[in-house]
Amino acid sequence: MTAVTSHRVEFAARIGRISVYPTAAGYGDRAAAANLASNESPEPPMPEVLAAIERALGSLHRYPDPAAGRLRERLAGRYGVPVARIAVGNGSCDLLLAAGEALLEPGAEVVYGWPSFSVYPHLAAAAGARAVAVPLDDAERLDLDTIAAEITAATRLVIVCNPNNPTSTALPLEAIEAMLGRIPPHVAVVLDEAYCEFNLLADPDDSIALLAGHPNLMLLRTFSKVYGLCGLRIGFALCGSEALKRALDKVRQPFSCNALAQAAAIEALAHTDEVTRRVERTLARRIGLQEGLAALGLKHAESQANFVWVTLPEWCEEDAIVAGLSARGVLVRAGGALGRERALRVTVGTERENRLFLEALAELLAQPQAA
Ligand SMILES: *Cc1c(COP(=O)(O)O)cnc(C)c1O
Repeated sequence: MTAVTSHRVEFAARIGRISVYPTAAGYGDRAAAANLASNESPEPPMPEVLAAIERALGSLHRYPDPAAGRLRERLAGRYGVPVARIAVGNGSCDLLLAAGEALLEPGAEVVYGWPSFSVYPHLAAAAGARAVAVPLDDAERLDLDTIAAEITAATRLVIVCNPNNPTSTALPLEAIEAMLGRIPPHVAVVLDEAYCEFNLLADPDDSIALLAGHPNLMLLRTFSKVYGLCGLRIGFALCGSEALKRALDKVRQPFSCNALAQAAAIEALAHTDEVTRRVERTLARRIGLQEGLAALGLKHAESQANFVWVTLPEWCEEDAIVAGLSARGVLVRAGGALGRERALRVTVGTERENRLFLEALAELLAQPQAA
């Protein structure tokens, strides 16, 4: 036997570069009174969707359709994008990571706004590429001019999150179209539209038209938010070219999207009326939450999503507020973990959850020592 020379496993260099994804504190705590930390739907999946999942259970001894053929056909019918330009994934994060793997490598650059989705920095770290993070403007919106100006000969990928997580703001489609016009056609653009259903500035169907003129564009959508299916993991990419779709598939395992998720998504697409009602209910509660924050004298960004980005007063200790809320059974995300100190990202929950949050926050702000 050879002697053991080291107790340490030698990992790939990227393991040292990749930071751990900042999951919400207390996330495993399903008993929390208000789960407002992860931008989930407070409403359970639709009953018809649950029935479709049950029908699929008996076939779990079979692999899922690796091409997700039926689902992609439904998506093609729904959005008017050819099947060959639609990729589905194990959540849209799967497709995001695939885009990073397919496009980035050492020497390459990826440009995105910041603060934005916490998964974006992972792409550059995993690939050994350079990340260019462009600060938001004064209204907490993406600064598309600067993003476009940061493109160099090394840029392979630009990521635009609209509406932007965690700041909740959206930009008009015309601004995004103008930016696309400034990006060289060999640079891929991911438009992450996880929250597009909640955006009053544009209809979810509006951005589809951008694909026609931009083969380098990919729209990322998900069943995680408005459909309330984040526990199943399913999302999709509508691509401007077949080459993009093929590249996303090449870097992933063939069965990345499970059979139950495919069945659920197919069924969910048949219930657009219920989606509309869910959006309306969320928007009504979003207004209530914003009014409650204003009554506490707190500023928030102009939300076009199912969450609100709140600025805490100067004297506040963000960590103490988050801990104080958590002690009262209310889970939210601390801005510091998402790229901006002294802020909170609060998901629009049920009426009751929103009230619990506002009451707990009022208590903490009234007696700083209680925090
Ligand atoms: C929630 C979210 C997603 C969706 O992730 P899934 O993997 O589909 O659950 C994608 N992008 C952003 C910005 C998000 O906030």
